[in-house]
Amino acid sequence: MKHNFCAGPAVLPQEVIEKSAQAVYDFAGTGISILSISHRSKEFQPVVDEATALVKEILDVPEGYSVIFVAGGASMEFCRIPYNFLNKKAAYLNTGVWAKKAMKEAKAFGEVVEVASSAEAIYSYIPKDYEIPADADYFHFTTNNTIYGTEIRKDLDSPVPLISDMSSDIFSRPIDVSKYNCIYGGAQKNLAPSGMAFVIIKNDALGKVERQIPTMLDYRTHIDNGSMFNTPPTFTIYSAMESLRWLKAQGGVKEMAKRAEARASKLYSEIDRNKLFKGTAAEEDRSYMNICWVMNEEYKELEADFMKFAQGKGMVGIKGHRSVGGFRASCYNALPMESVDALIACMKEYEAAH
Ligand SMILES: *Cc1c(COP(=O)(O)O)cnc(C)c1O
Repeated sequence: MKHNFCAGPAVLPQEVIEKSAQAVYDFAGTGISILSISHRSKEFQPVVDEATALVKEILDVPEGYSVIFVAGGASMEFCRIPYNFLNKKAAYLNTGVWAKKAMKEAKAFGEVVEVASSAEAIYSYIPKDYEIPADADYFHFTTNNTIYGTEIRKDLDSPVPLISDMSSDIFSRPIDVSKYNCIYGGAQKNLAPSGMAFVIIKNDALGKVERQIPTMLDYRTHIDNGSMFNTPPTFTIYSAMESLRWLKAQGGVKEMAKRAEARASKLYSEIDRNKLFKGTAAEEDRSYMNICWVMNEEYKELEADFMKFAQGKGMVGIKGHRSVGGFRASCYNALPMESVDALIACMKEYEAAH
């Protein structure tokens, strides 16, 4: 049996994979594959409608907000965000590679203030002492830093509206959407296959920038056309719908938060206890989604061997990002506790042999 700790594309519920596969053969009893049916067909429209409605329901999205699915992934949104929301100045918190990429795009549209950065410590913690300029159009931060295993699990206080990249921890806990002008992320961490972003937008926050926005980059285009201005990633939206159905049936984001904490605390406890290993992220900022650790100095030379040992036991995708090294276990919503237990057993067994 394989245990899927991939960072993204990542583990999806087995049920979602089976239903998506079934739709590839015969979508909604049409006798036609989801891969080859028109997005304008009467069978597909309910799919995009339901997926949109489920995001709103599951995250308790207030009135006055829109939810869209757009092709391109989170990286496309790094540019669409300032295009649509940055008039003069924006504030960004630099917590890693993704935050930096978002900041780089914003610089093409106006003044960008980096309020704080943890670059000097390879982003192993979340900066906490900083001031957000009150005249900024928005404050952008990345809630979960997929590469470094740090996470901001609260809706920060700010004098200006929040905008967040929630690619890798969306749907893992309740959020107060009303504090945000925009929440976005790539689908491939906690929702669906890759190539698509979900975007939650406060309608009133749009239309405030002076520049002209190309049609496809203007959020209003996708809102006004219900994510169907052009041909959307239909299969990905289908899988997202199945994934959201699963999530709701499991008990929603409250239940996901409980499971995430249970998985993470179990695994961190083992990392802290095991003489071979140590965690890389500051304890108070540890992510529930991406758990990063390395071999202790005196066992460093065992790193490659442990990797091979773990792979032999069915662990998939536990190699750390090259900028951090060591190991990373991504524990998204769909990861069963038995996978965490299997990884822990593997760590204990390896420790006993050394
Ligand atoms: C994976 C990831 C991205 C990049 O997503 P793409 O869909 O590949 O563009 C951006 N931000 C965060 C936090 C991520 O984890």
